[in-house]
Amino acid sequence: MPGDTLTSRVTFKDMRRGNRSAVLRPLLLDGTLNRIALGRLTGLSSASVTNVITELLEEHLVVEAGTEESEGGRPRVQLSMNPDFGVVIGVDIGETGVRIEAFDLTRRMLGGEVVPIDPNRPIVSDVVADIARTVNKIVGDVAAATPVIGVGVGVPGIVIGAADQALVNAPNIGWADVPLSSLLSQALARPVFVDNCAKTLGLAEMWFGAGRGASDAIVVLLGTGVGSAFFSRGQLFRGVSSSAGEWGHTCIAMNGRRCRCGRSGCVEAYIGAYAIVDQWSAGNNAADEEAVIEDLIDAAARRAAAKELLDEVARAAGVGLASLVNLFNPERIVIGGWLGLRLGPLLLQRINEVLSEQALAYPAARVSVQLGELGRDAVALGASTLVLDDLVSRGGKPRPFDGSLPRPRI
Ligand SMILES: [Zn+2]
Repeated sequence: MPGDTLTSRVTFKDMRRGNRSAVLRPLLLDGTLNRIALGRLTGLSSASVTNVITELLEEHLVVEAGTEESEGGRPRVQLSMNPDFGVVIGVDIGETGVRIEAFDLTRRMLGGEVVPIDPNRPIVSDVVADIARTVNKIVGDVAAATPVIGVGVGVPGIVIGAADQALVNAPNIGWADVPLSSLLSQALARPVFVDNCAKTLGLAEMWFGAGRGASDAIVVLLGTGVGSAFFSRGQLFRGVSSSAGEWGHTCIAMNGRRCRCGRSGCVEAYIGAYAIVDQWSAGNNAADEEAVIEDLIDAAARRAAAKELLDEVARAAGVGLASLVNLFNPERIVIGGWLGLRLGPLLLQRINEVLSEQALAYPAARVSVQLGELGRDAVALGASTLVLDDLVSRGGKPRPFDGSLPRPRI
């Protein structure tokens, strides 16, 4: 039957791609592995691992990286991703600036730059042009001869649709239904993947940081705003239209403090940097959030009002996290973002106390709350993992740039 032939051909191709993906993922995550370890990690037969590795070596996606002595046997050849195969770009569109970084396939940062943007209502076409210019400059500086595999972008807002066709809704910066993947890929002539910044931070911490090895985990991003990313069995949970994880806008106080989303009592209205700054500077609209937070921390040693405000932040975080513990029963919660990493060491003990009081005893006893390990600017690294994830899921074949993308509508 012709149909059967077609089906079995597709199945073989899928299986081959699946085997290549299975081998590439641990090489990306763990760095250097030998064939035996790859067989153990992937469940593939040694013949399948050898076949896949032979292909990947021929395609220069994987390289040999020395040998390792084995007990009584021949030295084992170590394998790693080829850093020179291609460059991946990570972009973090924050509320006051855009961070753009280039990485090789071993996660080494090759170069980066921060471009300021209008903190109120940045014009989409200006931001797209700035990103395109800076990406091209960085690539020209650090890797002119190396192909760019793709560009990943983290944004502060709700991202609707697949990462390569994303519509961005970010009311905080005045963006509604912005087809950012399409606009940027046209400007850069390269594949572009866009996702929410808390999700890209979450991916980075799960792949390379404090979430490694956890199956069910939540990564929360505390910065100007507040977001989160849920992982179940290692997979990012997105919801029906990709907006899952908007923990910052779950309510912790009925008729509580006004949130900038227009509702009241949201988690973000108590622990987002803008809300804390608003409290500490008595609504004076301080421009430099980080300076105000430093002033608050400094004052906490001397002034009761500062100490009380920080305690309120810890209590609000503990109550908010307790809901997540009750709802999702995670084994690990990772706190990241510049504010999370600044306040975490000061408030973690208090957050844990409140969490234990507020969450059900059984799941509360099984969760550990940790600080992120990748630093305050891990959103760009996380955004680059969107490209790596696509590369791996395609079995290591870079996505060709499709110049025939639909014209963006803005
Ligand atoms: Zn809100």
